[in-house]
Amino acid sequence: MSENTAAPAKPKGKKRLELDPRLAAYKGIWVFVEMERGQVHQVSWELLGEGRKLADILNVELGAVILGGSNDELAAAARSAFTYGADVAYIVADPVLTDYRNEPYTKAMTDLVNKYQPEILLLGATTLGRDLAGSVATTLLTGLTADCTELAIDPDNRGLLATRPTFGGSLLCTIQTLNYRPQMATIRPRVMAMPDTLPERSGRVISENLQMQEDDIIAKVLQFIPDEAQEQAQLAYADIIVAGGRGMGKAENFRLIWDLAAVLGAEVGGSRPVTHAGWLPADRQVGQSGKTVRPKLYIAAGISGAIQHRVGMESSDVIIAINNDPHAPIFDFATYGIVGDAVQILPVLTDAFRSRLAVNRRAG
Ligand SMILES: Cc1cc2nc3c(=O)[nH]c(=O)nc-3n(C[C@H](O)[C@H](O)[C@H](O)COP(=O)(O)OP(=O)(O)OC[C@H]3O[C@@H](n4cnc5c(N)ncnc54)[C@H](O)[C@@H]3O)c2cc1C
Repeated sequence: MSENTAAPAKPKGKKRLELDPRLAAYKGIWVFVEMERGQVHQVSWELLGEGRKLADILNVELGAVILGGSNDELAAAARSAFTYGADVAYIVADPVLTDYRNEPYTKAMTDLVNKYQPEILLLGATTLGRDLAGSVATTLLTGLTADCTELAIDPDNRGLLATRPTFGGSLLCTIQTLNYRPQMATIRPRVMAMPDTLPERSGRVISENLQMQEDDIIAKVLQFIPDEAQEQAQLAYADIIVAGGRGMGKAENFRLIWDLAAVLGAEVGGSRPVTHAGWLPADRQVGQSGKTVRPKLYIAAGISGAIQHRVGMESSDVIIAINNDPHAPIFDFATYGIVGDAVQILPVLTDAFRSRLAVNRRAG
């Protein structure tokens, strides 16, 4: 390796900015519990699990922020939040918060932050979370790091170290909000592990009112049209994914991927060249500009394992790679590797799984 490729030395004498004394009083970690139509998004529990670890390092409380229209739904969400590690739930129940709209949610959240002053505020990088985080950060005039893949605490200054891929995934950058509070970050679903629940855990509930009338809000919800979810890929929360890459050769060969997925009860995914070529719909792309997945089993056929694909699937419990190039980077992080032609190997695997699973089914 030439000297030029070595990582640059860490600059000596790290830049330190004094926190305004008003902001130094901010304490505690908050997680926004995203709820739509009474359903909490699983990313909120993943973030409570991660928030618990950070709160224990800082020795501060973990808060869950729960906004919505129905008291009962918010109370139920608060009870769940406690079992996932929250110490306190901040609740705002108001009819104007029934459906997500940016204005009332931003007001509810910024009012809570200004009153209770958390030092860290985490949201899921969902469509809703990304929309809300941007307006909350700009209203509070603080820093926001979007789409993080790793969070840690800086032992030097107790600040949040928010790490995210940048420059097309070729660099990981760690961002700090030195002199504003709260330090905000959005984190993608499935990047953090789902925490265990402690069913006996409970906590404090703090309820606040929203000082806002329906007439103050410009956006109106006229109708709710659910997704045609049947045909949509549910990749992020699938237990098994069979994915194909450019090495599958042509669109027709993807039938082999679908066949194996059908036998395993799996979802189908693919790399970017494959969705770009139209061999698979765009919502089945795995990777940095696609979905992050965390299945128990990820089978990658004809996928080289480029960094932009790897960051979306490397947390899978078991990775099986099928590739005809023994030097393909995917073998560096696969659990099991098969060197050979995926077009020949997939049907053999499918048959083997089909007969094995039939035996298991007969045995009950
Ligand atoms: C900003 C940016 C964002 C990106 N985001 C994503 C993203 O979200 N997801 C993503 O996947 N990529 C993304 N990419 C693209 C990424 O860099 C790679 O180009 C891509 O992952 C490669 O896909 P692949 O492995 O299918 O194809 P290739 O890299 O072409 O690899 C094909 C592999 O198949 C093997 N092969 C060939 N024939 C056979 C055969 N018959 N049997 C078995 N193996 C065979 C080859 O040895 C090779 O390893 C992004 C790139 C950029 C710049």
